[in-house]
Amino acid sequence: MDDSEYPDEGEPDVDSSLPLLVDSFPPMTDNLWTRCNNCQRILYKEDILENHSVCPACNFHFRLSGVERLTMLFDEGAFDVVDHGLLPLDPLKFKDTQAYAARLESNQKKTSLPEAVVNAVGTMGGIKVVISAFDFAFMGGSMGSVVGEKITRAAERALKERIPLIVVSVSGGARMQEGALSLMQMAKTSGALARLEEAAVPYLSVLADPTTGGVTASFAMLGDLNVAEPNALIGFAGPRVIEQTIREKLPKGFQRSEFLLKHGLVDDVVPRKALRAYLIRALRLLLNRPQ
Ligand SMILES: [Zn+2]
Repeated sequence: MDDSEYPDEGEPDVDSSLPLLVDSFPPMTDNLWTRCNNCQRILYKEDILENHSVCPACNFHFRLSGVERLTMLFDEGAFDVVDHGLLPLDPLKFKDTQAYAARLESNQKKTSLPEAVVNAVGTMGGIKVVISAFDFAFMGGSMGSVVGEKITRAAERALKERIPLIVVSVSGGARMQEGALSLMQMAKTSGALARLEEAAVPYLSVLADPTTGGVTASFAMLGDLNVAEPNALIGFAGPRVIEQTIREKLPKGFQRSEFLLKHGLVDDVVPRKALRAYLIRALRLLLNRPQ
C-alpha cells in the first residue's frame, strides 16, 4: 500500500465527495470468502473477523466502524452510548456537488449514526472509562460542530466523573462544509483537554488509519499517550501538498505510524490485537492502580 491510494486534492481536510479508495472491511454479504484489498489474497472472511479485522496473511488492519471499535475495547464488548442525541446543522447552507444537508442525511442513513463519532461509557479491565470512537464511513470521520462538541462532552464527562478518556481517531480532519465552525472545534476540544490535564485525569489518544488535518492538529496529538495502529496514515497536509511546497521527494513510509514513532511524533505503535491490553496497562499505570 502506498500514499497514492489516499485521496489528496491539495487540502488537508477530507473532501467527502471523493471516493474512499481504501474501504473498510468489505460489507457483510452471504459470501464466505473475501479478498484482502492489500495483499490480494482470497481469504475466509471469518478468519479476518476473528483476527480483529486484521488480515491474517499480511497484517493489514482493516478499518473498524465506531461501534466495532467500542465493542473491541470495552470489557465483554458492553457499553452505554452517551451524547447520542446531538444532530448536525447546516448553518452555512453549504452546497458543493451536493447540498450539505442532503449529504448529512445520506450519511446518517448509510451508517445508522447521527454523526461521525460515537461516545460511550463502560469499563476496561474493570476501570470505568469514556471512549469517543470515530466512524470513517460518516463523511470520512470529518469534524464538524457536533463531532467537536461530542469530543468536548466526553472530556467534560471524564473530568466530572474523574474517569479516563480515550479517543480513537479515524478522520480526514475538519469538515469543510461547516467552514470556520469546524476549525473552531480544534480550540474547543483542546481547551477541554487542558482542563482534564489540570485535574490529572488520564487521556489516551489512539490514532488509526487515517488521522489527518485538524484532528491530528488538535486532540489526536494531545494524549498523555498517543498510540497508533500499524501503518496508519497520520499527518496534517497530504504528502503531495508537502512535496509541492518543499519541492523535495518525501522519504519512504512518510506519515506512516512507524515513521512517526521513529521521529518521536507518536509514543508507540500497537497492533490491534494487543491494543486493548496495552491501553488497560497504560490506564493502570497512569491511575497508579496495579492489578
Ligand atoms: Zn492481506
